[in-house]
Amino acid sequence: MPVIEVQGLHKEYGSAVAVDEVDLSVEEGEVFGVLGPNGAGKSTTVECLLGMRRPDRGSVRVLGLDPVHDRAAVVQRVGAQLQACRVQPRLRVAEVLALYASFYPRAADWREVLERVGLAGTERTAFGRLSGGQQQRVSVALALLGKPELVVFDELTTGLDPAARRGLWQLVRDVRREGSTVVLVSHQMDEVADLCDRVAVLTRGRVRATGTPAELTAAAGDGVEHSLTFRPLPPVDDGVLEALPAVRSVRREGERWTVRGTATVVQAVLAALAEHGSTAAELQVGRVGFEDAYLRLTDQEVAR
Ligand code: ADP
Ligand code: MG
Repeated sequence: MPVIEVQGLHKEYGSAVAVDEVDLSVEEGEVFGVLGPNGAGKSTTVECLLGMRRPDRGSVRVLGLDPVHDRAAVVQRVGAQLQACRVQPRLRVAEVLALYASFYPRAADWREVLERVGLAGTERTAFGRLSGGQQQRVSVALALLGKPELVVFDELTTGLDPAARRGLWQLVRDVRREGSTVVLVSHQMDEVADLCDRVAVLTRGRVRATGTPAELTAAAGDGVEHSLTFRPLPPVDDGVLEALPAVRSVRREGERWTVRGTATVVQAVLAALAEHGSTAAELQVGRVGFEDAYLRLTDQEVAR
């Protein structure tokens, strides 16, 4: 049985459609990414998973429960770090954690959790005096206190410095290894490509694509895996490269050419140049990655 099963989820605010017929299925033990630009409906979707918002239509099952109807049970078994985390600013960090730990019959040791999120030593500091990044890590700690079967992170690392980001990425890997399922909402491609087993890309409330980062890259990229930029020396005719089966596109900017194509495009281009007595001067080779695929997927929407 999937940990999360969403079918035809629809949610409007007034007359604005935030989530439009979304289907999602998340298996036990997965790190599942929900990716998309600001306003795509990511937070609304996860808030429906948590029972914080009532869908207008559609069915939502989390751990076999209806999050609105069975809210109390869902809260016990699902941890959430949300974009809007409200904590009384005058409470000290230790007080906040001890208070939240008291909500769970089998809570984790809050001192250990604090250590895991890199906040050991802040126990006596008032929440309101922490930096933004530290407050965010407190909300991550709160998500983990109940030893949840499912954890939802909504923009886990947005606004954090690189070291803190890496630390939380490792934390996600650890949480997963310990057996929890993770939903990771993000608009950062590197994060999602690094951490997620599967991803759903949302734009304007709709799921544009679902799959592994590799599948999405391949599907959106029309088989394009590499690009190379160079100056043909001496020059050759454009047609020489366009005729190659591995080549998908040739773009010229002055003397510099950019060629994109399938896995064998680099060898094919260099061989064709050699055949015509030319070479690739100032050659740069790049891999067309998940970020390109994501931009393509979301651009299509903008261009519609
Ligand atoms: P994301 O998390 O992907 O940035 P959200 O789910 O927060 O997207 O928002 C989706 C859309 O719904 C946006 O257009 C946003 O402005 C709108 N929206 C979100 N929350 C509310 C709300 N409480 N009232 C009215 N509109 C909202
Ligand atoms: Mg959001």
